[in-house]
Formats: sequence, C-alpha cells, structure tokens
Amino acid sequence: MPELKFEPARLRLARELKEWSQTQLANKVSVTAAALGQYESGTTRPSARVVTELSTALDVPVAFFEIPVTDTHDGFFRSTRRTPVAHRRHARALAHIARDLVGFETADYTLPPAFIPPVPPPTLEAPREEIEERAQEVRKAWGIPRGPVPNVVNLLENNGIVVLRLPLDTADVDAFSLPFPDHPVVVLGSDKNDRARSRFDAAHELGHLTLHGERVWGMKEVEKQAHEFAAAFLMPADEICDQLPRRVDWNAFFELKRRWQVSLAALLMRAKTLGRMSDSTYLTAVKAISARGWRRVEPVPLGAPERPSHLQRVITSEGARKQCEALPQHLVRAIGAANSA
Ligand SMILES: [Zn+2]
Repeated sequence: MPELKFEPARLRLARELKEWSQTQLANKVSVTAAALGQYESGTTRPSARVVTELSTALDVPVAFFEIPVTDTHDGFFRSTRRTPVAHRRHARALAHIARDLVGFETADYTLPPAFIPPVPPPTLEAPREEIEERAQEVRKAWGIPRGPVPNVVNLLENNGIVVLRLPLDTADVDAFSLPFPDHPVVVLGSDKNDRARSRFDAAHELGHLTLHGERVWGMKEVEKQAHEFAAAFLMPADEICDQLPRRVDWNAFFELKRRWQVSLAALLMRAKTLGRMSDSTYLTAVKAISARGWRRVEPVPLGAPERPSHLQRVITSEGARKQCEALPQHLVRAIGAANSA
C-alpha cells in the first residue's frame, strides 16, 4: 500500500472541530484513544484504512490530513471563565481553517503580505505610557493620519491580517487572535452587534500581534497591555485629551462617540486614565450608565459592525475552488456565510 502523507496536527484540529476528546473519537473508530494520542503526537502513523475511518467519523476529506499545518501558540484568549475549553479549541481550529484558506495560492485573489510592526514592551509591567507610545508607533508605521481610524477591520486586512467573524454557533467565544507568521488571524465574536465594541476588540487583538506576537500569552498583564494599546490606538492621548469633558456632560460624550467611533464606556475610561476626570466623577458616570440600562445597549448606535471582506473574496474566487475541496465543506460555507456582506 502506498505511504500516505499524514500531518499529525490535522487530526487534533479535526477532533477539536467536533469538540470531541480522544476517548470520544475512539468510540467511533476501530482504534484506541491511546493510538489516537500517538497519531496526534506523530509517534506513529495511522494506516490508510484508519485514515478513511477518521475522515468519515470526523466529517473531513481524507485530503485534509495531508495539508501542512502552520503552527503557533494556543492563542490570545481573554478571561477563560466564560467559555468552555472545548468551545475555545473549536474556535481556534476554525481560525486554522481560515489560515488554510488564505494560504492557498489562488490565481485570482491573494491577501496583501503581512506588515505587523513588532513593538514589544520592555517588560510585562511596562507603564501605560510605554504602551501608548507603541500604539502611536504602529499608527505611524501604517501611515494612519491624525484623527479617528476610519475602519479598523479594513486596516488590519490591508496589512495582511486575516479577519474572521465567527459563525453564529460559536456565540459564547470572545474575540481572540493567533500570530501565524505569514498571515496572523484576528477572530471577532459573532455575538456583538455593536460597532464600537467590535472596533475596540479588533484594536485589542492588533495590540497582541504587535506587542506580544509569539513571545508571551495567556497572562493577565498581557491582556491589560492589549487593552491599553487599543485605547491609545483608537484615541491618541495628544489628540483626544483636550476634547474629553471634565464633568459628566452626556451630550459632549455622545458627540465624541460619533466622532471617534468608540463606546461611551471607553471614552469615560479614557477621560479617567488621562486625568481629565476625577475618580469620583468617573464613578458617578459609571453608576448612571448602569442605572439607565446603557451597559447592555448604549445610546448613539453607530450602525452595523465593520465587516471583513478578504476571506470571502478568497472563498469565492475561481482559483480557490479546487484547493477548498481538501477542507470540510460545511465549515467553509459557514465561514463564508458569517463573513459575507
Ligand atoms: Zn486579549
């Protein structure tokens, strides 16, 4: 029998797409969980017959197991409490599929090469001012003029980052990113029909890719830095500081929300961080936001969230069709549907 190509990491991806443990998968095929563990670690290789069984059980084409995997760390996930680990791994595996899609050399459409300015902070305890400087370095490297960023998602895509909105059945997964060296993937949650929050999420993930990359992840300091980066990237201190009111002047905040395309919550926090607003005034404002139900739905809606477009262009391009056949078709369709205009 001819030797099959078999990428061990593909088996794990296919299993995580089903949200199954090795034991659960073993119950559906003729090999043990221990054998599956050995296939996944690359210690042994499955026979052609077993690969066919795995393909049927896992709902992926046999050719799926032959595609090389570009690997990276577990991803920049936020608080891990809200989302069960199986859901997170499922979402991470979907991000891998998105990465596969743009890795195909389609004749008609390819992404621009990635340009991610690396701006690592000196330490995990670097003061906020250092992180703010790095956010401005990225704005400068990308040639963003002064003022609000018009469209964060387009900006990321134009710099070679794959932006993916998750299909609806993954609604409890927050935004996260994976720093693949060729085309990093930023995943935005499907559940936030809120332009301001979605822009902030995208800027937060950009913070991870530029500040942290493959070096550090999974620590609360890293999350704090990405948040500081996002605030500074979307609202540069030297531009917004004088515009922020010192008192709880809602009309002024509504106007700033329209102009800067960020949430009231983010603007209030910015006013406090930059010393425009005292802690007690900030607290009064936050209480008012809660009392008025604005924590759930803020006033001054900004319209639909920014939409990714590059992934859909790849999926629908003629040249990609043949190569897409090696991927699970139902997932390619779900990704396409979640990312079409
Ligand atoms: Zn994060």
